[in-house]
Amino acid sequence: MQNSQHSEPLVRLLGVTKMYVQPDNYDILILDDITLEIRPGEFVALLGPSGSGKSTLLRIITGLSSPSFGTVLYRGRPVTGPNLHAAMVFQSFALYPWLTVLQNVELGLQAKGVLPAERHDRAVKLIDLIGLNGYEDAFPKELSGGMRQRVGFARALAVEPELLCMDEPFSALDFLTAENLRSELLDLWLESKIPTRAILMVTHGIEEAVYMADRIIILSKNPARIVSDMPIALPYPRNRKDPAFMQMVDTVYKVVTGWDDNPHQSAVADLSEPKNPDRPHLRPIPHGHLSMLSGLLELVADRGGRDDLYHLGSELLLEVDDLLPVTETAELFHLAEVKEGDLYLTDLGHQFVEADVSKRKEIIRNQLYDIPIFRLIDRVLRSKTNHAMVKEFFNDILEEHFSVEEAERQLMIAINWGRFADFFHYDTDTELLYLADDQLLSSQEGVQDSE
Ligand code: ADP
Repeated sequence: MQNSQHSEPLVRLLGVTKMYVQPDNYDILILDDITLEIRPGEFVALLGPSGSGKSTLLRIITGLSSPSFGTVLYRGRPVTGPNLHAAMVFQSFALYPWLTVLQNVELGLQAKGVLPAERHDRAVKLIDLIGLNGYEDAFPKELSGGMRQRVGFARALAVEPELLCMDEPFSALDFLTAENLRSELLDLWLESKIPTRAILMVTHGIEEAVYMADRIIILSKNPARIVSDMPIALPYPRNRKDPAFMQMVDTVYKVVTGWDDNPHQSAVADLSEPKNPDRPHLRPIPHGHLSMLSGLLELVADRGGRDDLYHLGSELLLEVDDLLPVTETAELFHLAEVKEGDLYLTDLGHQFVEADVSKRKEIIRNQLYDIPIFRLIDRVLRSKTNHAMVKEFFNDILEEHFSVEEAERQLMIAINWGRFADFFHYDTDTELLYLADDQLLSSQEGVQDSE
């Protein structure tokens, strides 16, 4: 809101870095050198892909977790434990099933030592404010998801937090419920009906961020760094159909998709620090499904070979989080290129769209020979006399390069792509990857082709 530039920051993060230790004792870098300030009057959205570290950052700001390096200050004082001036709203609120709505809302006040009579009055007022008047004595199981989330908001607001933190608070709700709750919360905030001084909302929805926040901080992934910190100067109430609103969404979309301005940047971005500096680092492949890839390319071909990613995302009902891995896969296979928020088909992309299934398989197969994970699999399978190897073997290798979870994911995607493209066979019962005679021939051709 107003005058935020001139007031003392509520939150200051200086060089905040967070690492987690993996089960194999290697560190994985999640947040890298995050420096930012949040001032009274600001509604800040933290936008980034899932798994980028947004919740981790929120937990550090509220004092629920501590950084590995760097400093967190609240009103100029170091945060060393849970910040009592902050409250958190989660995606789905853990309400106590044996307590009524009123008792659930009173809980936070009880912890603060507020006396019973005042506790009761404040909770009743908040329940009214958040639109649950008449439900004071209901139990959580009698409420819809939207109403439960309202109780979650009331519980967080009951303690009159200076800083309200929200971790994807609308993402578990159906569209209409979410939309209502968003505008009601905005109304409470903009009309100063709550004493909250600043709001910090984690989201992966670009439209949601532009609809609600007056500042958007965009994070990258692996590790999370601040890619952009932009003000949203649109007046409230905002209208999603307003050209200025759509323009702003488009701008944010461009920044988000611009993470991979260099076509291979995201495909080669480290998912973890190299575990062993002497060993060449294996490049991760994007988490793209081939069926979605075909659908996307066909749609773009229908549009004359080029379309705005934001339009494509909304048409396919995909959040940018789900769309990016597919566009990254298209770029990795040289089927398309992303430039300034638009997706263009390459010549190969046009050939792919016009091809039948067996030709499509061949196009992808030829691309796979250029990708390190597939080169590795091909080399191993061809070096074995039976041309077969258990999946576990590759899993172990990948775990040298990625977290345990990511290694499994990488192998699953590689197996899906490899099977589709007849690059190798995979037997789900024996968990064996193997090459058949025709593949042995074609792989040699493929290597010659690509060299
Ligand atoms: P986001 O909120 O952006 O989806 P998170 O902050 O939840 O991301 O997680 C970021 C990364 O940190 C993920 O890869 C997640 O698996 C990892 N992570 C989160 N918490 C822990 C933890 N306690 N121990 C190890 N890794 C974790």
